[in-house]
Amino acid sequence: MRALVYHGPGLRSWDEVPDPVLQDDGDVIVKITSSTICGTDLHILKGDVPEVKPGTILGHEAVGIVVEKGSAVRTVEVGDRVLVSCITSCGRCRFCKEARYGLCIGGGGWIFGHLIDGLQAEYARVPFADTSVYEVPAHLTDEQVLFLADILPTAFEVGVIAGGVQPGDTVAIVGAGPIGLAAIMTAKLLTPGRIVAIDLADARLEKARAFGADVTVNNGREDPVEKVMALTGGLGADVAIEAVGVPATFELCTDLIRPGGRVANVGVHGHPATLHLEKLWIRDVTITTGLVDTSTTARLLKLIAEGRLDPLPFATHRYPLASVMDAYDTFAAAAETDALKVVLEAEPKMLAAPKEHVLAGIAG
Ligand SMILES: [Zn+2]
Ligand SMILES: [Zn+2]
Repeated sequence: MRALVYHGPGLRSWDEVPDPVLQDDGDVIVKITSSTICGTDLHILKGDVPEVKPGTILGHEAVGIVVEKGSAVRTVEVGDRVLVSCITSCGRCRFCKEARYGLCIGGGGWIFGHLIDGLQAEYARVPFADTSVYEVPAHLTDEQVLFLADILPTAFEVGVIAGGVQPGDTVAIVGAGPIGLAAIMTAKLLTPGRIVAIDLADARLEKARAFGADVTVNNGREDPVEKVMALTGGLGADVAIEAVGVPATFELCTDLIRPGGRVANVGVHGHPATLHLEKLWIRDVTITTGLVDTSTTARLLKLIAEGRLDPLPFATHRYPLASVMDAYDTFAAAAETDALKVVLEAEPKMLAAPKEHVLAGIAG
């Protein structure tokens, strides 16, 4: 089969590799029908994630068809169309029993395109199939569920739920890339009073408004702290969600927060940030961090199936899986291409989405 292989920092190629085989009786083999690229894949290519060994197939977000199953797999059948999520659960360890699958110590957690071969490939081996994949309802397209593999549960769990968003809250979201936009989309499920999106790029702020932000602030031109204080009677935001992953944006969140408020960090950080305890200690501020558990994936899937959540606007570009090298170039140049999520289709149909999305993809 062919797959997108990491060959060390800065090096990737679309290679002929051996087909995956069952290694455990709980495994299934999935023929990938749709996959996508994540900001984390770019971090790996920069060399920021040294646990990823050269020779690893990248990718941790996909939908596919089960083509082979191990003898112990009970709930998944050959022919089923399944969502393969960024998090795998052994189902047996202490953390899986607490539904904290991201912390799995039984061989699961974030393993695809990290510790084992990933999902930007024609086929993939999926361990712990019974406790890790989600059957896709027949009336939903791959693309409608693909972003449940990572960004939607990540933003919802690590941002919105950890941040304790309540009806009526002022929620400040710093960063309007795919994760920040997913935080806007899923925060709205809890009816905040006002969502304030903060970013340095006007194009991303425009998207933030389209996704449901009520107020946008370009912090290259305006002081976001002043703006949020003015909106909240001088108190600050009830919840601040960090969706970038650099020290300045984390520190900004701690400046935006009201006394007793919550800062939820979602961004993946590569450098230390300063924690101003000398200012924060007396203000009862809670700060949370986390990797997604995907414990809300089934619930979000229901919302999509019922038409109450529409992730299709994330799909800005489409490529045949075999053109994944070009797709990476487009995704990595998001500032110029305005890419949010790039969909890789094994058998390109260009019919999966409403027309305007398809046209936007072609134009992009
Ligand atoms: Zn991802
Ligand atoms: Zn586990």
